[in-house]
Amino acid sequence: MNIHRLFRRSRIQLALWFTVVMGGILSLSGFAVYRSIVQSNWNALAQEIESIAGTLHDSLEPTLPVSGNPAFVLQQIFPDLCLSGQACNLSPTLIQRHTTGISDRNIYYIRLFNYQGKLLAFSPNQAAQLPKTLNSAAWQTITLVDGSRYLQFTTILHSSSAETNHSSWGYLQIGRSLVAFDAETNRIQWILGVSFAIALGIVATSGWWLSGLAMQPIYRAYQQQQQFIANASHELRSPLASLLATVEALIHLPSLSQDHTQKMLPTIERQGRRLSDLIKDLLLLASLEQDSLPLVTKPCCLNDLINDLTEEFLELAIAADVRLDSQVPLLEIYVLGHESQLYRLVSNLIANAVQYTPSGGEVILSLEFSDRLALIKVKDTGIGILPEQQKYIFERFYRVDSDRSRKTGGTGLGLAIARAIVHQHQGQLFLQSESDQGSLFTVQLPRIQRSLKC
Ligand code: ADP
Repeated sequence: MNIHRLFRRSRIQLALWFTVVMGGILSLSGFAVYRSIVQSNWNALAQEIESIAGTLHDSLEPTLPVSGNPAFVLQQIFPDLCLSGQACNLSPTLIQRHTTGISDRNIYYIRLFNYQGKLLAFSPNQAAQLPKTLNSAAWQTITLVDGSRYLQFTTILHSSSAETNHSSWGYLQIGRSLVAFDAETNRIQWILGVSFAIALGIVATSGWWLSGLAMQPIYRAYQQQQQFIANASHELRSPLASLLATVEALIHLPSLSQDHTQKMLPTIERQGRRLSDLIKDLLLLASLEQDSLPLVTKPCCLNDLINDLTEEFLELAIAADVRLDSQVPLLEIYVLGHESQLYRLVSNLIANAVQYTPSGGEVILSLEFSDRLALIKVKDTGIGILPEQQKYIFERFYRVDSDRSRKTGGTGLGLAIARAIVHQHQGQLFLQSESDQGSLFTVQLPRIQRSLKC
């Protein structure tokens, strides 16, 4: 699959998932807010009805007649209630008196039932379609055929007279229309719905932007990987092509003299060795960059390391007519590390310093320390590195002068390996360089205290 399409698809998927997850979180919190608002409105409503019912109940109970259906007495007590089966007075002053302070008093209705559940009286503003039979459940939500809803509270009325042979006189019902409540709930739903849609739009846009940001390092890493594969293939191809050409010449030119053949063998050996070195370096770099492998460490004495390497490179330096010197303190400096990797790190730096220093120059190796740090410095008076090239030289296969570097046997991986080793040892690698003046590479490693001799 086209890699750009793959990245685009991943970006879309990432943005989609982000939108889905954020949308889920938003809808959950929106729903929680919605529920709490609606519930508190409902509770306020129920409390209001209950308190009206309470005051009505308390004022009615002492005045209740003995009989369950004394139409005449009831009319006297509640002149503004309509009695079942009789004409109605349309001014509900009774409910108004008991709902002082409530903004819309006409929305409440009152009904009286006898203990058998027969409707005795009702306020004239009650909806005509309300069921005439008693449902004695304390709270009821009634939905009429036209869709209008009512919340109704039922409480038992006890007669003050001892003449009744049953415990209750009847029932008092207070109800109110839920039109205002439903309208308010609708309004909240709309506000939340519109806000959710806007928020989701913003989340989707920011998700797209964020997924773009998240993809950038992956895309860069992918491109670097591609570049690395291309570079590695190129580096492997050159010695391989030269090796094959030499072998083919030997095979197809049987007339070549023994002397000629003997001369070609070192070329084959050199190219083979170059290939083998390159592959070894690539494998080392791969293992260094794979953090999954634990680093087996032990205390390493840097004084010994510097002395050994100075001795090892002396011959090379003499051959290149470069003075190689080292400055090592008397105090033994230890770091926790992988000894052969540390040797590889410093030898890469020394090899470069000798290689890129013209004859007559000098390379100084020094070991310095502070309480917590050990500093290995490799300083040369060589060709130096231009400031604009300094940030690239630690990249794999980067060479300032490819031809020169190849001729000296460099793979272009030396500094990349050095940097990877330093990072594995929790250290840092610094470069100071000036063109034609020389370079100073400083390896900074965490120092450990150790009293044993190196
Ligand atoms: P190589 O194997 O080509 O030496 P390195 O990764 O070791 O690869 O170095 C990368 C490049 O950095 C080299 O090609 C060289 O141009 C430059 N370089 C490294 N060390 C020095 C130095 N001490 N002085 C000048 N240039 C250097």
